[in-house]
Amino acid sequence: MEHQLTIYNTLDRKKEVFIPLHAPHVGMYVCGPTVYGDAHLGHARPAITFDLLFRYLTHLGYKVRYVRNITDVGHLEHDADEGEDKIAKKARLEQLEPMEVVQYYQNRYHKAMEALNVLPPSIEPHASGHIIEQIQLVKDILDNGYAYESEGSIYFDVVKYNKDHHYGKLSGRNLDDVLNTTRELDGQNEKHNPADFALWKRAQPEHIMHWPSPWSEGFPGWHCECTAMGKKYLGNHFDIHGGGMDLIFPHHECEIAQSVASQGDDMVHYWMHNNMITINGTKMGKSLGNFITLEEFFQGTHKLLTQAYSPMTIRFFILQAHYRSTVDFSNEALQASEKGLSRLMEAITGLEKIVPSTTSTVEVKTLRAKCYEAMDDDLNSPIVIAHLFDGAKMINNIIAGNDTITAEDLKELKETFHLFCFDLLGLKEENDSNEEREIAFGKVVDMLLEQRMKAKANKDWETSDKIRNELTDLGFEIKDTKEGCEWKLNR
Ligand SMILES: [Zn+2]
Repeated sequence: MEHQLTIYNTLDRKKEVFIPLHAPHVGMYVCGPTVYGDAHLGHARPAITFDLLFRYLTHLGYKVRYVRNITDVGHLEHDADEGEDKIAKKARLEQLEPMEVVQYYQNRYHKAMEALNVLPPSIEPHASGHIIEQIQLVKDILDNGYAYESEGSIYFDVVKYNKDHHYGKLSGRNLDDVLNTTRELDGQNEKHNPADFALWKRAQPEHIMHWPSPWSEGFPGWHCECTAMGKKYLGNHFDIHGGGMDLIFPHHECEIAQSVASQGDDMVHYWMHNNMITINGTKMGKSLGNFITLEEFFQGTHKLLTQAYSPMTIRFFILQAHYRSTVDFSNEALQASEKGLSRLMEAITGLEKIVPSTTSTVEVKTLRAKCYEAMDDDLNSPIVIAHLFDGAKMINNIIAGNDTITAEDLKELKETFHLFCFDLLGLKEENDSNEEREIAFGKVVDMLLEQRMKAKANKDWETSDKIRNELTDLGFEIKDTKEGCEWKLNR
């Protein structure tokens, strides 16, 4: 590969050259949604971040197997080891089957991702479809002595594990920090130590989703699914595991512990995490009333929104920040993104209008190289976008007649814009703007026909015929009616 892609590895806290274990194959696992509610801005960020990575790796010639799971069982309230399953609770409140809840929100998640032009992963496994694999993982950890049974549940023995290995190497925590921040009530009477976490839980009588196991009728702990499904589809060692920074602890820390305890070492080579989105400077939270779903953004129906924002505006807004920086949502910031995006799209449309000259007064050759350089630097999308804006200025100067470009340079410029804007950043022309344009064009036809009616009223047959004939030549069919006239465009 001619490119030297570097990515920031959370495990080593530094940027590292990306070298796949089995080039040209790349294995990539990203934690997907727990499907018990509509996707919000917090879901859009990891999806878009790892979509950018998926697109870029594929463009570089790698054969990427991208696994993004659907969590449909075992994720309890407050990400804890006690309490109700998030999906079962929703099912109880809505009087639905848990799998109806899963199917409904999964469909809606897919629809939102499609609107954001996020490519589907190669495999999208469900936690509930991999109970056997998760039971096997728990058995392996038990066999190696890093777990214990208590009242039909199996817990990971963090204290014992930490004597032999390092629990906290991803999050930078030590066991004392973990103990100080562990919830007091989390199955404490069953656990040897409050830092231990559940691998298998015996189902309480009210718990509706449960499966047989050697230990009890129950369900897997939340952290098991990603380790078990990663292993199944990507092998004991794979290249990239991604997710939001909020998953570093406990979820990904526990995943590392599970894989080391079951197979002797970590499965993952590069751990990648996207930063969070805040809303007007505060964290998003259902209780804070600032939880805006993607659909609410697309339709402008949340009280914090002053207008609707198209899916591409949301995508562009997210890509305008580096994935490891925080992003603060505000109407002003999104409106700025909306304007920026339309400037970029206008420049791309403008490219088609340019008539080449015999000489170039612009330098286009370096644009592609600069964009690649930014992508290779830990997917620095804001820098790519800044270079594209420079390119847009260049295009506007050529159109204004201040600069000239040769046919060869024009081809290079078009290819660069198409590659980075469409193929890699995943932006696209939106139908909305086409619809708006059609409405505006329709009004112009109405205006012309109004002039024709006036001309007829004034017995100015020459003008009225001219308007009619010219519209007919353009493909419009004009029909005079009692009220005036009607038109349609025959295509
Ligand atoms: Zn996960």
